[in-house]
This record gives sequence, structure tokens and C-alpha cells, in this order.
Amino acid sequence: MVEHRIIHIQAEAPAKPELGAPCNGCGVCCLLEPCPVGMLVSRRRRGTCRALLWSDEQARYLCGMVIAPQQFLPWLAPLLQPLAVRWARRLISAGKGCDAELQIQQPPASAD
Ligand code: SF4
Ligand code: SF4
Repeated sequence: MVEHRIIHIQAEAPAKPELGAPCNGCGVCCLLEPCPVGMLVSRRRRGTCRALLWSDEQARYLCGMVIAPQQFLPWLAPLLQPLAVRWARRLISAGKGCDAELQIQQPPASAD
């Protein structure tokens, strides 16, 4: 059975690319549910990942565990932060392309 879920996404976010195409930071997968790393920092299995960050400058979503792990693991010693980034990048398969098999449906345009 197909499950339908509603997510709220930044209007400037790029459209989700095809499966396997380079990740463009559309954020859809992380808004829907956290990955294994995100489950640890979000302490939940469903809903938007706590570590998901929006960048106005880049007009895309970024993984906070990769760009600012200290924000989500404040107890982590500064010396260990590069290791945490490497661990997160490996677990989220950073740079491996979009692996989210999702169909996106835009809301109907509002009649103004
Ligand atoms: S993995 Fe895919 S769905 Fe997730 S942010 Fe990247 S492009 Fe978007
Ligand atoms: S940890 Fe990063 S890649 Fe994983 S769901 Fe959260 S924001 Fe997305």
C-alpha cells in the first residue's frame, strides 16, 4: 500500500532529483524521517530530522551532522568532531547520490 505523508518544505528548495543522481539538498528524505544518524540525534524514527539545516545562502538543505556536529553532540570533545563528521558522512552515504525512492506530489495551487 502507498503511504502518503505531508511535509513542509522551503519554497526555494531545489526539486528532488532522480534516484541515483547527485544529492542536491532538496531535503525531502530528511524532512520525512531521520536516517540512522539522524535517529540518534533526533531520538525518534519518524518526522523531520533535528539535524537538518536550511541554508539561505545556498538555497538548499544541509546535514548538520556533517557541517556542525558540535551543535547536535555538544558533549563531544572538539578533537573528536572530525571523526564524528567522517562517521556521519559514511553512514549517510554522502556523495553517493540520491537514494530516496519517493514520489513527490505538489499541493494544488491556491486560488487567489
Ligand atoms: S538524498 Fe535525495 S531526497 Fe535526500 S536530500 Fe539528497 S537529493 Fe534530496
Ligand atoms: S543526520 Fe543528516 S542526513 Fe541524516 S536525516 Fe539528519 S540531516 Fe538528513
